[in-house]
Amino acid sequence: MVEASKLWFEKACSSCSCSELIHPWTYKCSDATATMLMSNIRGSYKFYAMVYLIQILMKGKKLSKKEMVEQFKMYLKSGIFGLTVGSSFVTLNCIFRKLFFSEFSYYTTVLLPCTVSGLAVYFEPPYRRVMVLNLFVNLVFEYWVRTLEMKGWLRRSPGKETMIFMLGSAVFFYFLRLDRENKKRTPLFWFFTPPRVSKEVGEPVEGIKGRSAACPHSGPCINYVLKGTAQLFGVGCAMTMLRAILPKILTPTKALKSLRFSHLKLGLFFGGYIGIYRLIVCLLCRAHGRDSALYALPAGFLSGLAFRAAPSTPIALAPLTSTLQILGSWGYQKGMIPANLPLIEILYCLCQGLLFHARVMHEDVCPKYIINLMHTVTSSKADEIQAGFIQRIVKLI
Ligand SMILES: [Zn+2]
Ligand SMILES: [Zn+2]
Repeated sequence: MVEASKLWFEKACSSCSCSELIHPWTYKCSDATATMLMSNIRGSYKFYAMVYLIQILMKGKKLSKKEMVEQFKMYLKSGIFGLTVGSSFVTLNCIFRKLFFSEFSYYTTVLLPCTVSGLAVYFEPPYRRVMVLNLFVNLVFEYWVRTLEMKGWLRRSPGKETMIFMLGSAVFFYFLRLDRENKKRTPLFWFFTPPRVSKEVGEPVEGIKGRSAACPHSGPCINYVLKGTAQLFGVGCAMTMLRAILPKILTPTKALKSLRFSHLKLGLFFGGYIGIYRLIVCLLCRAHGRDSALYALPAGFLSGLAFRAAPSTPIALAPLTSTLQILGSWGYQKGMIPANLPLIEILYCLCQGLLFHARVMHEDVCPKYIINLMHTVTSSKADEIQAGFIQRIVKLI
């Protein structure tokens, strides 16, 4: 695939008009804005339907009627966020080119408008902004790792990524347990939330029956461990099935035939992750007769082994990103970060600009999530525009 370097991009594209480069399907800027908006309304609501479905699945419990209405309202708002970001790309480019720049340049074509359109994140409620920022910071880390790999400075491997995930999980779960007592907890979206540190103290327990007084759950330990494992195993499998079967929903027999053992991998990862974690915390509680936040360190580290069943770069980095988020929220609460600074929104804008820029200019190292996101939200208009850029560059080379 062709990389759009600054030199080649500007040679090939700088003198184009906006109708040649940004909206090749129509000459008029107003028509371009309208078609882009229509594509994005469809795309954005389709994309968020998937996102909300997965989030509800991960919660692992049935929603009440009130919660359903709440979720639906948030779904509508998230859709507005998505379609504003997607459709403003064309409009901002037309406006910027007419008002400020006489030609397209490497930094002002995608990076600048997409940084500005990040302001649409204000459509989301504050706690969702934090979660969206977490996701995008994580994607920026992935983008950097892929860039370093392309330059030959490091090499990714499932083994290395498992190690990073294990270390990250150890630290993350420890901080998460410390943060549980905090009244202003930062919102985190994770596979499961470890229970708060139990204050009960009792005698050490031997054997495998029953529970220790210090265990952070009721009922026997075995039930607690197995129930969590089965639940998240189910969620993992359900997510894989959704992805595998949804596109073939009209041919159910074909869809069922396409199921393979490999479809269990995500379930093994999810189930193993919570299972090992709970097992080790219970064993330590039983052995010592008391609970401690520190147990999260060995439990998080070893549970990270389950990641080996379904390794992926963004998930490998996710515990580290979430640890940074907890540290950031502590910084806010301790007054180390000024409270009136809209840091979350600014950081989101910067991440969005950088990632969308990467999608167009450096497709090879751009996280797959961003490619899919832009494809779905813009109903493949983003791919059309990007392909147009690359064709111009190829002609010159
Ligand atoms: Zn235009
Ligand atoms: Zn237990």
